[in-house]
Amino acid sequence: MTVPTVKLNSGYDIPQLGFGVFLVPPAEAEKAVSEALEIGYRHIDTAAIYKNEEGVGAAIAKSGIDRSELFITTKLWNDRQSGEQPHDAMRESLDKLGLDSVDLYLTHWPTPERDTYSNAWQKLIEIRDAGLAKSIGVSNHLPAHLDRIVEDTGVVPSINQIELHPAHQQQDVLDWAATSGTKIESWGPLGQGKYPLFENPAVAAAAETHGKTPAQVVIRWHLERGFIVFPKSVRKERMAENLDVFDFSLTAAEIDAINAIDPGDGSGRVSAHPLEVN
Ligand code: NAD
Repeated sequence: MTVPTVKLNSGYDIPQLGFGVFLVPPAEAEKAVSEALEIGYRHIDTAAIYKNEEGVGAAIAKSGIDRSELFITTKLWNDRQSGEQPHDAMRESLDKLGLDSVDLYLTHWPTPERDTYSNAWQKLIEIRDAGLAKSIGVSNHLPAHLDRIVEDTGVVPSINQIELHPAHQQQDVLDWAATSGTKIESWGPLGQGKYPLFENPAVAAAAETHGKTPAQVVIRWHLERGFIVFPKSVRKERMAENLDVFDFSLTAAEIDAINAIDPGDGSGRVSAHPLEVN
């Protein structure tokens, strides 16, 4: 099984399917990431606020897998965006991960009330230039935030990681990315189990047709739409299920039917709105 890669505007390749560790408790993170690496995942998505970077780092160290085969992402938390703080935060994350550099460093939320996201982006550029992050990007940024950081710095993010699943597709953010060369990562790709995606007739029908599970159909939809995706599960059998999506393809009609799940008015969102997080 080979996971396809996506070429970023930095020139680096990112594995299109990975493993996310949001809400994996610190004490369980090492075990979960060790199992994920054993099964074949090579791309791990963590964040300072997940408080499990040490566990991720311990699993990486014990795996014996060559660093060059791994793609590790972490994120700058909202209260470290101002002044020179992003530099300190990056060093702390690298210490916890036990790494010299990450493959991708993201600002976690724009937190517009703080008005520090453009400074944070400037600091991420410096962090990249210092060789501590191979690629840099943002998360939860809306077109107005993206326009601002590009206008202020001239640097286009490699990635925008946003809540994205069939019920919440954020077409305006996708359009910005398509015209700018930014790649999209889908967080909450399975709707965090909060939206009844698996029972949806379009998903259920495709699962039946292909002899796959509804979760596998939704992951396949992300991949075929060109999104980068890292579903989370601490159950080993589900980790394996979520990686076992390279032996089938959805038809254009199936993709259209799944695209149509989005009510189109934002009501399919399952988590916080970017303007409300500070
Ligand atoms: P997700 O959509 O991946 O849902 C995870 C839940 O889905 C699991 O807890 C489990 O209950 C269920 N699940 C997983 N595999 C399943 C399967 N095969 N069958 C049935 N149910 C299954 O949600 P998520 O964890 O929030 O998102 C994935 C990753 O995205 C996170 O771990 C994290 O790395 C990232 N993330 C980023 C942000 C951000 O603000 N940037 C926010 C949330 C998550």
